[in-house]
Amino acid sequence: RIFRRQMQCRFDIDRLNAPFLAIYDSLIPTEEEKAKQNQLFTLLETLITKEWPEAQLYVYGSCGNSFGVSKSDIDLCLAIDVADDNKSEILLRLADILQSDNLQNVQALTRARVPIVKLMDPVTGISCDICINNVLAVINTKLLRDYAKIDARLRQLAFIVKHWAKSRGVNETYQGTLSSYAYVLMCIHFLQQRRPAVLPCLQEMQSTYSVTVENIECAFFDQVDKLRDFGSHNREPIAKLVWAFFNYWAYGHDYANSVISVRTGSMLSKREKDWTRRIGNDRHLICIEDPFEISHDLGRVVDKYSIKVLREEFERAAEIMQYDANPCVKLFEPY
Ligand code: ATP
Ligand code: MG
Repeated sequence: RIFRRQMQCRFDIDRLNAPFLAIYDSLIPTEEEKAKQNQLFTLLETLITKEWPEAQLYVYGSCGNSFGVSKSDIDLCLAIDVADDNKSEILLRLADILQSDNLQNVQALTRARVPIVKLMDPVTGISCDICINNVLAVINTKLLRDYAKIDARLRQLAFIVKHWAKSRGVNETYQGTLSSYAYVLMCIHFLQQRRPAVLPCLQEMQSTYSVTVENIECAFFDQVDKLRDFGSHNREPIAKLVWAFFNYWAYGHDYANSVISVRTGSMLSKREKDWTRRIGNDRHLICIEDPFEISHDLGRVVDKYSIKVLREEFERAAEIMQYDANPCVKLFEPY
């Protein structure tokens, strides 16, 4: 296989550690903001339990997976015993209840791909989406959160990559670029692949947590407190990892043949997944296997135009990390 040039990191990359950590610090939500999120969650939980005593409310997405930047919306999932056909009814009833409790901008979007109720809390200023029975999302949220507890560098790297993607306009699934969830999986996989590894593969270890959802067995090792030293053999600081991440996606990744897989902690081939050609709307131009829904390629939103945009952005970022005098500014310049 012929890869394009992969750069050597010969210059003084360590000068960038402090500025990258400062950016990371500026992005994490404050304790005050987290308290407000909890306050809203408790309010909603109370309202919901009053109406449906047997239902459960869960946080998923960036507020639950620890990869949420400041001012994120809250994604919630209402787990309730209801047939798919009756979801709309529940959502409409839920919207009524929320409206009567003075929550603002309450809207039931019953025809959306993922039907939800949207709302804004005037007290905390936080917006929130509530969906029904998206239990796999609750479980992949836990998986991401557990990975984040193993090594602090995962959160640092993912915050910087998400911030870069948002600044550069490549975090828009409806325009054919990647979701935040996909970027976090790319970061986890990248850290599983470092030598020495920074992260283990939790799904390949003896499982301590296991649930079956929609006929999918979701099992992994979740006693992550025992893995706090896992990454200590690798001493690469954040700037080196950011440099290597962009270098990998610009020049190292084999887009034609490879699938990244957090589930196995390794690289799979497109051939073994049968992801070699376009099927329907799935073009498989950049392949990221979902850790639980393994027939699901998170790169499937990417088309022949947006793959070009994405790869040019990875190359731009790699060049900036290599040559620019001030990468911590240039990297995040609005497009
Ligand atoms: P942001 O900070 O941008 O809001 P986020 O962590 O909330 O980021 P999203 O990409 O908005 O990330 O996704 C929210 C959650 O929905 C994810 O954490 C994941 O649980 C779930 N999710 C999103 N996309 C998929 C997908 N294609 N397949 C399975 N689950 C997904
Ligand atoms: Mg979100």
